[in-house]
Amino acid sequence: IRRNPGEPEFQQAVESLFTSLAVVVKRHPEYTENALIDRMCEPERQIIFRVPWVDDTGKVHVNRGYRVQYSSVLGPYKGGLRFHPSVNVGIIKFLGFEQIFKNALTGLPIGGAKGGADFDPKGRSANEMMRFCQSFMTELQRHIGEHTDVPAGDIGVGQREIGFLFGQYMRLRNAHESGVITGKGTAWGGSLVRKEATGFGVAYFVANMLAEDNDSLDGKRVTVSGSGNVAIYAIQKVQEQGGTVVACSDSSGFVVDEKGIELDLLKDVKERRRGRIHLYADERDSARFISGGSIWDVPCDVALPCATQNELDESAAKSLIRGGVRIVAEGANMPVTPKGVAAFRDADVRFGPGKAANAGGVATSALEMQQNASRDSWHFDYTDRRLEQIMSDIFGRCRDTAAEYGTPHDYVLGANIAGFTKVADSMCALGVV
Ligand code: NDP
Repeated sequence: IRRNPGEPEFQQAVESLFTSLAVVVKRHPEYTENALIDRMCEPERQIIFRVPWVDDTGKVHVNRGYRVQYSSVLGPYKGGLRFHPSVNVGIIKFLGFEQIFKNALTGLPIGGAKGGADFDPKGRSANEMMRFCQSFMTELQRHIGEHTDVPAGDIGVGQREIGFLFGQYMRLRNAHESGVITGKGTAWGGSLVRKEATGFGVAYFVANMLAEDNDSLDGKRVTVSGSGNVAIYAIQKVQEQGGTVVACSDSSGFVVDEKGIELDLLKDVKERRRGRIHLYADERDSARFISGGSIWDVPCDVALPCATQNELDESAAKSLIRGGVRIVAEGANMPVTPKGVAAFRDADVRFGPGKAANAGGVATSALEMQQNASRDSWHFDYTDRRLEQIMSDIFGRCRDTAAEYGTPHDYVLGANIAGFTKVADSMCALGVV
């Protein structure tokens, strides 16, 4: 904490991992040797750079760009880019730290990283987005490569932005090096299912949680926060599995639709028109828009926070518990505060932590890298089946590790220990690096 002042999200992520580890260190004292934990807390490299760009009126703006290359022990650095005004070094470090253990849980050979900029895409034209992405990549390209560091999307960075970033990379490097970035369009080196993967993966993870009690998503009432990439495809897969998603949101408020979210309309509003969520309610009789208030006051069986960090605190958790929630799974990174997680644990609500439940996106990015390396492209169904299997394997790792340490169904503990031991064992094998 002394070493990283002013980085509360980073401190929160580190603390929440290490509070799970007392039982492991007792069994394996070797993990306390050679400053292993201290090395794990320190990123291998942090890059901060100026991103100057010109808006449509000719005015020059300056943003701050980041890439935190956290750990390359398991493979090339891998993790998304976030464009949001709240971005700072502490947020990128927390996301990079989480990414290391999430990537370890996938079982695929990828290290951990994260990046982004304190740039606000809201209200910016396509040309402004392109100029910003080009300026960002002009610096970032020095630090990435298919064997070094492979970025992807995150909040504010979807397929359009990945296209602008990759286009600039190609110009500067004179190479269609498709393995340098993931989340590409399928015509230019992308993988089918990558767009859907994080949201689908969350639904697959929840299906595994429910299957523990011989139950399924069929007939469940579900709320999903956010209405971006993760939320939209979580909603789609939940509804395909028979659940009804009755509410979703953006930063302006939330909509409740007792008939179930009409996916085509939501995609039209959010993906095509890039509009605000009230437009959904404006065009759907069964829906109402609520600005202010909390989506977590809507009673449900399953809650999937898919917007941003710390969006679900203790009081929201208690409200969900009063509303009868049985399962919570994190589609976003660290959306539930530590006190929120504790409230769910005390109420016996099963809880799927983000580093396991939302790992389907990065896992499918690793599948995109495999396709790029072999100059191949796989069918949708094949890739989707691989994703489903990977999510089931991740769930199995969390479940079995939790049981091994005497706390069955504590998937937070299971995910933290399984991710940590894989990274720690590899670091021990590689010497003091
Ligand atoms: P998008 O930019 O596509 O969507 C983000 C959604 O969350 C939007 O609806 C946005 O609303 C809302 N949101 C963002 N910030 C806030 C805020 N401060 N308060 C309220 N609502 C907010 O991002 P993604 O769907 O890609 O990412 C969502 C989360 O999932 C993030 O935590 C990300 O790190 C995590 N994640 C994403 C993966 C991916 O593959 N995309 C992979 C794994 C995790 P508005 O438009 O109004 O800002």
